[in-house]
Amino acid sequence: MTKGNINVSVENIFPLIKKFLYSDHEIFLRELISNATDATLKLKHLTSIGEAKTEYGNPKIEVKIDKEGKKLHIIDQGLGMTSEEVEKYINQVAFSGAEEFLDKYKDAAKDAGIIGHFGLGFYSAFMVAQKVEIITKSYKDEPAAHWICDGSPEFTIEPSDKTERGTEIILHIAEDSTEFLEESRIRTLLLKYNKFMPIPIKFGTKDINDPDFEPKTITDKDGKETKEPHKKITVDDIINNPNPAWTKQPADLKDDDYKSFYRELYPMQFEEPLFNIHLNVDYPFNLTGILYFPKMGQDMNIQKDKIQLYQNQVYVTDNVEGIVPEFLTMLRGVIDSPDIPLNVSRSYLQADGAVKKISSYITRKVADKLKSLFNNNREDFEKKWNDIKIVIEYGMLSEEKFFEKSGDFALYPTVEGTYFTYDELFNKIKANQTDKDGKLVILYASDKDAQHSYIETAKAKGYEVLLLDSPIVSHLIQKLESTKENISFARVDGDHIDNLIKKEDTKISKLSEEQQTALETLLKEVIPSEKFMVQLEAMDSEASPFIITQPEFMRRMKEMQQTGGGG
Ligand code: ADP
Ligand code: MG
Repeated sequence: MTKGNINVSVENIFPLIKKFLYSDHEIFLRELISNATDATLKLKHLTSIGEAKTEYGNPKIEVKIDKEGKKLHIIDQGLGMTSEEVEKYINQVAFSGAEEFLDKYKDAAKDAGIIGHFGLGFYSAFMVAQKVEIITKSYKDEPAAHWICDGSPEFTIEPSDKTERGTEIILHIAEDSTEFLEESRIRTLLLKYNKFMPIPIKFGTKDINDPDFEPKTITDKDGKETKEPHKKITVDDIINNPNPAWTKQPADLKDDDYKSFYRELYPMQFEEPLFNIHLNVDYPFNLTGILYFPKMGQDMNIQKDKIQLYQNQVYVTDNVEGIVPEFLTMLRGVIDSPDIPLNVSRSYLQADGAVKKISSYITRKVADKLKSLFNNNREDFEKKWNDIKIVIEYGMLSEEKFFEKSGDFALYPTVEGTYFTYDELFNKIKANQTDKDGKLVILYASDKDAQHSYIETAKAKGYEVLLLDSPIVSHLIQKLESTKENISFARVDGDHIDNLIKKEDTKISKLSEEQQTALETLLKEVIPSEKFMVQLEAMDSEASPFIITQPEFMRRMKEMQQTGGGG
C-alpha cells in the first residue's frame, strides 16, 4: 500500500468546500455521474478508433444505496484508471481544480444561486462524505487500484482485485448528510439533474409485465373464460432517457414526438403546447434545444423559469435570464449548449459576446418560426393569436430586431374578428380614415361590451375598429406611433373620431334642432366639462341619442400612470 500527501497549498480545503457550497450540496451527485458519463463516452471513442481493444457493449451507470453501511455507490463501466492515473487525475488534476475553483469563486459563490451552475468536480463528494473510496480498473491491461481518502490531504492507494473494467466511487455519507441515503431523495436528484444524460442510469429494479409472455385464455368447468395472470419480470430501473428529442434531427421528429417530449419535460402539465421551435446550430457556437409556446392568454404573470438549461445533456439551471431575451422566458422547453459560460455572474453573462449571439440567434429563430407558421397556415395562426400575442407584443416592445421582423406576423384583429397585418390594415384604411392633416387615424376598442355604442357608431361611418385588449397595449401603441410615419391611434370612445374627415353618408341625429339644444343644455349642467365632452350631432342609433367622450390625451395620461409609463 502507498501512502501519500495530496500536494496543495491550503492545508485542508475540505472545510472550505463545505462552507462555500453549503446550499448546493446536492450537486455532488451530478458531478460524479458526469464523470462516470465522461469515462464511458471516452471509452466509446477509444474503441471506435481502435485504441482500446475491448468490447464497448451496452454500458450503464449504476447508483446504489447501502443504507446500513451508510454508503452511496456510483458505478460505471467506462475507461477506468490505472493507479498512476488515479494519482495524476484525482490527486493532482481534481484537487488543483478544486483549489483553483475555490480561489476564483469564493466571492461569486456568495451570489445566491450561481454556485450550483458549475461544479467542483470530483471533490464535491466531500461535501456529503467523510470518506471516499475509488475502486477502478482501466481498460488497459493493468491491475485495478483502490484509493481511499478521509477528507484530509492524506490518501492511501493499493491494488484491488476488481476484475470488470470501470470505476466504482464509494461515498461514506457523513452524519449531517444522511438525507442522501434516502431512496426518494436520490431519485428526485437523479430526475432533476440526470433525466436526459446520454448513458443509461440504473437506480434499483422494477417489476414489469413480461413483454414476451402471452397470457392464455383459461376456460373453467362452467365454461367461463378468464385470462391467466400476466407474468412479471424484474428489470433494471433506468431513470433517464439517453436520447431526448432535442438531440435528434428535426427531420426525424414528428409533431407527436415533440408533444410527447413536452409531457416528459412537464409531467404535471396537461395542456398541450401550441407549437414548438427546434433550435439547432453549430457555428459560430453550439446550441440545440426545443422551445414551446404554451397557451398564454392575457396573463402577464405567467410562470417564468420554465426553460431548462443543459450542458451536454446535464441539467444546469432553470434560470435562463440573460441567455434568452426576457420576452421569451415566458416560453417553455430546453436549451443545451456547451458554449454558455456557467461559472460567471449574471451581469458578466449579459456582456459576454457568445451569449449575446446566442440570444439574438434565438430571437431570430423565433421570429422566423412565427413567420412561417403565419405563411403556411394563416387561419390556424389567427386562431392561436390570442394565446401568443402577449409574448409577441412584449417582444416587439423590448427587442428592436424582433420588432423589425414582427411586421411579417404581428396581427391586429378588428372587433368583428378580421385579422390584419399592419400593412394590410394600412392599405385598408388609408383612403378614408385620415384626419384634417392627412394623418392616418387607427381606431381601436379595448372592451367590446363597454364600448359597444361607440364601436357601432364608428362602424356605421365605415371605419375599421381594432380590438386591442392586451395589458401592454398602450405601450405598443406608443411604440407604433413613434416608429410608423404619420399615424396615430385613437380609442373609439375618445374625441379623435371627430377629427376624422367626415364621410358623406354620415347619419344625422334623429332629434329635432330644438330637442338637441334642450338636451345639450341639460347634459352640460350634469356632466363636468373639464373631463368629458358631449356630442349630439353624430349619432345614428336610436338607443343612444348622444355620446359622451373623454379627450384622448387625458385618458392616455391616466393609463400611463397606471401601467408605469414608457415601454
Ligand atoms: P473534470 O471532470 O472537470 O475533469 P473532476 O474533478 O470531476 O474534473 O475529475 C478529475 C479527473 O478524474 C477527470 O478528468 C478524470 O480524468 C478522472 N475521473 C474522475 N472520475 C472518473 C471516472 N468515473 N472514471 C474515470 N476517470 C475519472
Ligand atoms: Mg467532472
